[in-house]
Amino acid sequence: MRKRILVTGGAGFIGSHLCTRLVDEGSDVICVDNFFTGSKENVKPLLDKHNFELIRHDVTKELLLEVDQIYNLACPASPVHYQYNPVKTIKTSVMGAINMLGLAKRVKARILQASTSEVYGNPVVHPQPEEYWGNVNPIGIRSCYDEGKRVAETLFFDYYRQNGVDIKVIRIFNTYGPNMSAEDGRVVSNFIVQALKGDDITVYGDGTQTRSFCYVDDLVEGMIRMMNSRKGFTGPVNLGNPGEFTMLELAEKVIKLTGSNSKIEHKPLPQDDPAQRKPEIALAKKELGWEPMIELDKGLEKTIDYFRVKVALQ
Ligand code: NAD
Ligand code: UDP
Repeated sequence: MRKRILVTGGAGFIGSHLCTRLVDEGSDVICVDNFFTGSKENVKPLLDKHNFELIRHDVTKELLLEVDQIYNLACPASPVHYQYNPVKTIKTSVMGAINMLGLAKRVKARILQASTSEVYGNPVVHPQPEEYWGNVNPIGIRSCYDEGKRVAETLFFDYYRQNGVDIKVIRIFNTYGPNMSAEDGRVVSNFIVQALKGDDITVYGDGTQTRSFCYVDDLVEGMIRMMNSRKGFTGPVNLGNPGEFTMLELAEKVIKLTGSNSKIEHKPLPQDDPAQRKPEIALAKKELGWEPMIELDKGLEKTIDYFRVKVALQ
């Protein structure tokens, strides 16, 4: 029988790619989104498919559906958006997790949580293995997101231990690609849009902070493998590309690949901005046979192609 799959936050950047893969594979996909940072535009090509359904709904409220699998992605992910209404962000993570876990428990669905490398905070262990408990400020401007996601992980493991809910937890490291919103303030979209418009490239701080960037197709492959992994393998498992770059290196790459004349402009470093981040992915390799295939340059080229069209239409 065809699997019925719920994707919360399915009209967002990652969610739209995930929905597309699942629809193409023939599953019945229900996408739930409140369109805070996502858009109908992202899932437009799916709207006339017989096996796709779009529901406007806020995950902080209860949802009654019959499904076999749930991917829980609903939550703004860019610092600009999750800091816009921090109380709502933490409600989305915590109440969203409670509502989706309650649904999974009731209908005996398998449920995957899109957690984040942010649970490691500003890590002092490098690269970050899943065993690392992190270094998180509980009262800073990133805390609504970091601590919200940490509580969501706690809820997942308590529903697993207490109620036997079939959980899967992934920790996603910085992911980029088409369907990112041009205005969401994340570094890859910011740099590409600035370079394409010939504006200054805004590097925060001295630009020596590092991130590891995963192309969205690689991530989606890892997510689906995790969802369908052996029963009892709960994770958490890191999903990310271990290639590590400074923000200055990223800016230079984007300038080169776009052929832009943009100059680098330094701006103040936001509070609690992690100094370094790189996933240890041995567990994903062992349990899922997964590792990223798309190099940063290649992924950036595909993302630049996407934004070229967007910027031309503006
Ligand atoms: P995104 O902002 O594009 O997508 C989030 C989606 O959730 C949007 O469509 C938004 O409208 C929806 N949403 C937000 N609050 C909601 C609510 N209360 N009810 C229903 N829908 C709601 O971000 P993304 O990059 O696609 O991230 C998807 C998930 O992956 C998030 O949970 C995020 O924390 C996680 N993640 C992403 C990254 C990354 O680098 N992109 C890294 C780590 C974790
Ligand atoms: N950043 C930057 N210029 C920008 C946007 C972000 O230098 O225009 C930096 C930011 O300070 C951080 C890194 O890029 O060090 C990644 O930021 P992003 O918001 O994409 O994700 P996160 O900080 O959550 O990893």
